[in-house]
Amino acid sequence: MIKKIEHLGIAVKSIEASLPIFEKLLGKKMYKTEIVHSESVKTAFIELGESKIELLEATDPSSSIAKFLEKNREGFHHLAIDVENIEAEITRLTQEGFTLIHQSPKAGADNKKIAFLHPKSTNGMLIELCEELV
Ligand code: ZN
Repeated sequence: MIKKIEHLGIAVKSIEASLPIFEKLLGKKMYKTEIVHSESVKTAFIELGESKIELLEATDPSSSIAKFLEKNREGFHHLAIDVENIEAEITRLTQEGFTLIHQSPKAGADNKKIAFLHPKSTNGMLIELCEELV
């Protein structure tokens, strides 16, 4: 079952430079930064109602965020959807004809199991499924 928007992922060149802008804009401090080594990204999270903003900075030139920023300006990168059971959603979406980048969930930032859908099957939008680990 799909629950809500978990977060919006925003690609930035520098969290150090961008974070104060978002903190000022939203009137809140980030609650967490975390490096996800498997994705070569540094993340910072700010709560926004029931959802969050995730800032993403590449830690390595081979990172997908570094490649994204070679082609695009800083800004919206992916929509993350909170799901109750990520394995069940992967099965459902595969049956519906979507292509998943990750056929089985992997460890993501902020205590989540995650899987990305391929933008080719989602009208160009990168979508992340997230299930919170209890
Ligand atoms: Zn994300």
